[in-house]
Amino acid sequence: MRIVLVGPPGAGKGTQAAYLAKNLAIPHISTGDLFRANISQGTPLGVEAKSYMDAGNLVPDSVTIGMAEDRMEQADAADGFLLDGFPRNLGQAEALDAYLERKGLTLDAVLDLEVPEDEVVKRIAGRRICRKDSSHVFHVEYNKPAAEGVCDACGGELYQREDDREETVRKRLEVYHSETEPIIDYYKAQDLVVTIPALGKVAEVTQRAMHALGRGE
Ligand code: ADP
Ligand code: AMP
Repeated sequence: MRIVLVGPPGAGKGTQAAYLAKNLAIPHISTGDLFRANISQGTPLGVEAKSYMDAGNLVPDSVTIGMAEDRMEQADAADGFLLDGFPRNLGQAEALDAYLERKGLTLDAVLDLEVPEDEVVKRIAGRRICRKDSSHVFHVEYNKPAAEGVCDACGGELYQREDDREETVRKRLEVYHSETEPIIDYYKAQDLVVTIPALGKVAEVTQRAMHALGRGE
């Protein structure tokens, strides 16, 4: 299956992607995680991306599209993938369609995680991620690690993302509404969008998403 996850920052895309990718046996591809891995390794791509990310802006398409395509080219993505945080504007959605067309592939679904803005703000304020692997995501209240400040999955140190501070979050939400939301209509025109109410327990949301994909119990 080839699936795109959309939704505002803090909607729970990364959290859901981890479970969905496991259930569907496809890789979870998060452009945010790829950028953070580049930042922690100090690559030129990471250096370039960091200034945009810290300001709450999108990293330019000239950098992002190539990085996402390179990841989709890897062997583990040959039979499908779950995209999280890509595409994030119309240019990227068109580039993804062009890429899939070149490969003779299509998307199966676009899952739109719907969460009210006040909840998103609470989720982001308490989010803590792992220094070793930013796809390991926790929340100080809603999804606590067994030991405070320590990643359950790998023992890494948990920290608050620079761009999860209040001022930057406001900017990221603006960018979501102006640049990312239009892709939902773009995919509605292709009849691919399934809206998933994303309030409630993590496992309940996963169940709704699996059901929407025709893989529910
Ligand atoms: P996104 O990838 O969309 O930015 P995350 O998956 O990182 O969002 O989730 C944002 C925060 O909300 C994290 O701290 C996560 O633990 C928490 N979270 C995710 N899903 C839920 C949920 N269903 N209920 C409460 N908190 C959640
Ligand atoms: P995320 O981890 O998905 O919340 O993304 C964190 C930040 O990485 C975003 O605020 C952007 O600055 C950058 N980013 C992630 N994915 C993309 C993308 N597809 N296009 C542009 N910037 C992105």
